[in-house]
Amino acid sequence: MTTGVEGATRWPTITKDVAAFPVQPNLLDYEAARRDFSWDQARQALSGLPGGRGLNIAYEAVDRHAAGPNAGKEALRFVRADGSTTSLSYGDLAVQSGRFAAVLRSLGVGRGERVFSLLGRSPELYTAVLGTFKTGSVFCPLFSAFGPEPVRQRLHLGAGRALVTTKALYRKKVAPVRDTLPELRFVLLVDAAGAPEPGTLDLAELLAGADPAGADLAGDIADTQPEDMALLHFTSGTTGTPKGAIHVHDAVAAHYATGRFALDLHPDDIYWCTADPGWVTGMSYGIIAPLVHGVTAIVDQEELDADRWYRILAEQRVTVWYTAPTALRMLMKAGAERAAGHDLSALRFVASVGEPLNPEAVVWGKDVFGLPVHDNWWQTETGGIMIANYPAMPIRPGSMGRPLPGIEAALVARDADGKPVVRDGGVQLVTEPDVMGELALRPGWPSMFRGYLNEEERYRRCFAGGWYLTGDLAKRDADGYFWFVGRGDDVIKSSGHLIGPFEVESCLMEHPAVAEAGVIGVPDAVAGEVVKAFVELRPGNEATEDLQLDIIGFARKRLGAAVAPRLLEFTANLPKTRSGKILRRLLKARELGLPEGDLSTLETPQGHEPEPREGGQP
Ligand code: AMP
Repeated sequence: MTTGVEGATRWPTITKDVAAFPVQPNLLDYEAARRDFSWDQARQALSGLPGGRGLNIAYEAVDRHAAGPNAGKEALRFVRADGSTTSLSYGDLAVQSGRFAAVLRSLGVGRGERVFSLLGRSPELYTAVLGTFKTGSVFCPLFSAFGPEPVRQRLHLGAGRALVTTKALYRKKVAPVRDTLPELRFVLLVDAAGAPEPGTLDLAELLAGADPAGADLAGDIADTQPEDMALLHFTSGTTGTPKGAIHVHDAVAAHYATGRFALDLHPDDIYWCTADPGWVTGMSYGIIAPLVHGVTAIVDQEELDADRWYRILAEQRVTVWYTAPTALRMLMKAGAERAAGHDLSALRFVASVGEPLNPEAVVWGKDVFGLPVHDNWWQTETGGIMIANYPAMPIRPGSMGRPLPGIEAALVARDADGKPVVRDGGVQLVTEPDVMGELALRPGWPSMFRGYLNEEERYRRCFAGGWYLTGDLAKRDADGYFWFVGRGDDVIKSSGHLIGPFEVESCLMEHPAVAEAGVIGVPDAVAGEVVKAFVELRPGNEATEDLQLDIIGFARKRLGAAVAPRLLEFTANLPKTRSGKILRRLLKARELGLPEGDLSTLETPQGHEPEPREGGQP
């Protein structure tokens, strides 16, 4: 497959016949929308808490709809494993999230304290998210496929006060490390069935005793203010522990505006975001944006399967679909004929995020759905979509599109060390077209992260000369379309999940046979990248296939399959800088047969490295 930048020359622009669209797009004239937009005006689409008491995401997403004609409208439609569905109306969601809030209050979980989830996509997850917002506590979702170590680390860093999970996930991932988490006071099991594990509570029983019937639901919502913390999303960096990105209630203004412009949400939409709420996309666009718009959101409780997904698109009459490149590549691999026989005529807009979207995938959408795929770009820190392809705008396959109204994007010139070039007290911007720089955004949009929890210095380092530096490298063409080039750091993107190499290396080094490890991402046709580890063994260990499998198994058990290395190679000499840092850049260049670049800081002279032992995929 071609990358986006290569695609610039090979793939013709896709034009649109807007007059033939089944509904008129929300954004018709890009330049005019940018000119006329202001965040204050976007905020006017929100209601605010009754009596001007403040702003709360749950009220905007649920209770204001439940108080009006949308009370009986389907808010969330869950598709079970057997294809049957169960729904929660806006009215149901208001009551059930109100009950969850009452439970938190009865336990004394306070404002600003963190409530974590480790759950599949069950109704309890959604009511817990919204109920937590209602009390003014902070929600932190964890991906249920994480292994015990990422779970423990995030609960610890986020000082989780309460955790909502299942019996099985608790037993496997939390109970063994519970005594290392003194802050974790309450574990609420959604499936305790009257018999909670020792040290846990039965959520159903607590909910039954916390019926807010007759209560003034809106009155029960804490008077949170726009700048109060609402969400904590952990994301991985190149070094150190995962970073907890802080988002505030004001973010809902961006979820609303981006849902309107980049996802083109209209009130009658049946909208499906395939991302898990354990990741930022599943929270911002799987829960908040669709509910704020009052649409019906589909939640598939199962994992990706080509036939199942086509069936859901057809049977649920999905109109707007937001998915990811890895998923699209898997569907492409399964073959376009799998879509045959499924009536996809309800679909009117398809968008994708999370990794570079190959131009082939953009165009493939036209064959299978009759619609091109619209790529958009954002990250955990931005909290919402920043750059997008819009329904009414021509697509240049391979490009991420153009900045949203209200978003100022630029490219910052970088020096040989990857640092922004500073000139006259400011950073030097790349102004010529098609020249690479670090993608930067002018701070000030509502869903921008407000900090990394307890890591002021790490937060500060993300800014230079009045810009937020995203860590991604990109180009901009003469017409203002942005093209993703690559990440500016060593962070790995595998199946849309951001993986910090340091986290994986630290885990590998806990294996008794491992002396040191260097971890990189290597290209993969479906997952984008897969994690590959280079491992130096402690003396007395032999580089055997059994040991290789044992180390991979060890990492899988601790980190979970989504994070652990898929490939492992033994090496006798990891390349390091003189200060002892593993040169992942060099590992990667060697792996890919690319130029090795400047080796002046290399500790091990080139050529001294013995032939690595080739490893395989388990
Ligand atoms: P996360 O914070 O986990 O959402 O990951 C954000 C990162 O994913 C970005 O900084 C990019 O490196 C990558 N990413 C997200 N969307 C795109 C896209 N449309 N094209 C290329 N890379 C993307």
